[in-house]
Amino acid sequence: MIVACLDLEGVLVPEIWIDVAERTGIEALKRTTRDEPDYNVLMKQRIEILSKHGLGLAAIQDVISGMSPLPGAAEFLDWARERYQPIILSDTFYQFAAPLMRQLGYPTLLCHNLEIDDSDMIVDFHLRLPDPKRRGVQAFQNLNLKVIAAGDSYNDTNMLLEADAGILFCPPENVIREFPQLPVARDYDELREAFQSAEENTR
Ligand SMILES: [Mg+2]
Repeated sequence: MIVACLDLEGVLVPEIWIDVAERTGIEALKRTTRDEPDYNVLMKQRIEILSKHGLGLAAIQDVISGMSPLPGAAEFLDWARERYQPIILSDTFYQFAAPLMRQLGYPTLLCHNLEIDDSDMIVDFHLRLPDPKRRGVQAFQNLNLKVIAAGDSYNDTNMLLEADAGILFCPPENVIREFPQLPVARDYDELREAFQSAEENTR
């Protein structure tokens, strides 16, 4: 049996922060790890911005409820469920992912947690562990399982390189250039094909 480790944002659902920024009109929330490479600094800024605008968790979840998985994502996940054991390894937070998980039939999700105070404001965040995607893959391999992984960006490359096979899905050009050893799929049909050829190679 093969475990399919899938990134969430950019692979199955849109970038959550970007979408929240667009839907709330708060431009400052559009900053990503490409603008601020230190994730801790970035998250602290986001929490500050939300607090300044008085946006609590319920309001943000309301915004996220209006989002949908990427077109074809649910079908891809169903396809993967029939063939592999899909596990989503994500750097998002359980509280944000919940409305989208409902639309994907509640797949297994390993991600991080937000700390919410009594007035529903986000006050802090807790990463489940360092280098979570790579360590997720290693954990499954330690259970004598093969892993095929797919992700779209820099925060996935440790996972993709650690897996028995890694696939880039719709990545930015600079990631393609820096990781020429990883195959690239540009839509779900190509992703299915890439999984199938990875499967042959990991036997
Ligand atoms: Mg991603």
